[in-house]
Amino acid sequence: MLQILAATTNKHKIQEFQAMLDATVDAGRVAILSPDTIPGFPELVENGTTFEENARLKAGQAARYADRAAFADDSGLEVAALNGAPGVYSARYAGDGATDARRIEKLLKELEGKTDRRARFVCVIALAYRGDIVETFRGEVTGRIADAPRGTQGFGYDPVFIPDGYDKTFGELGEEVKSKISHRARAFALATDFIHRELQTMDDFEFV
Ligand code: IMP
Repeated sequence: MLQILAATTNKHKIQEFQAMLDATVDAGRVAILSPDTIPGFPELVENGTTFEENARLKAGQAARYADRAAFADDSGLEVAALNGAPGVYSARYAGDGATDARRIEKLLKELEGKTDRRARFVCVIALAYRGDIVETFRGEVTGRIADAPRGTQGFGYDPVFIPDGYDKTFGELGEEVKSKISHRARAFALATDFIHRELQTMDDFEFV
């Protein structure tokens, strides 16, 4: 079996990656390794200004520390009427240590009275392997911001994001829809296609 280290401690993201993988032809052949299984795994620095830069930084640090192939994602919400904010600062939008509910409250306040509710989630996955090779894959899902939070599934801004083509939020739609159309699902599909093509040459991937 092929194991790939996921450079994230976000349990929701790991669950999403595993669910997406389980739905592919590689189900059972590839397993995602969580950083908690690696002793002393460091806090990853992500001080870039773009999703690409942050994803590369995290994947590179993880691959170097664990001495094996690793992937990382950097993701966030871009809102048109806020000139792309919160963007790469999505996790820290309402300050360090704030809750998802608090971040949503701030977002809805900033959008009060604005008719343009267009938004998109962006996810960039970086795959670091064979020392210093890093490839990136970008996925996006467009939609709009709801007037109030709805639904309890998912995480982050899911309760206020209504993807195009739906009337419900990701918080209501849940994993079944998210694992098909989300920004992370789309970036992940590109990354897994790449892995399929390159698998033969990836001799530092750990097979167990
Ligand atoms: P990251 O861990 O630096 O990628 O932070 C991304 C932040 O963007 C998360 O903490 C969430 O607030 C938000 N975010 C990213 N992906 C999603 C998603 O799929 N649903 C809801 N919020 C998301």
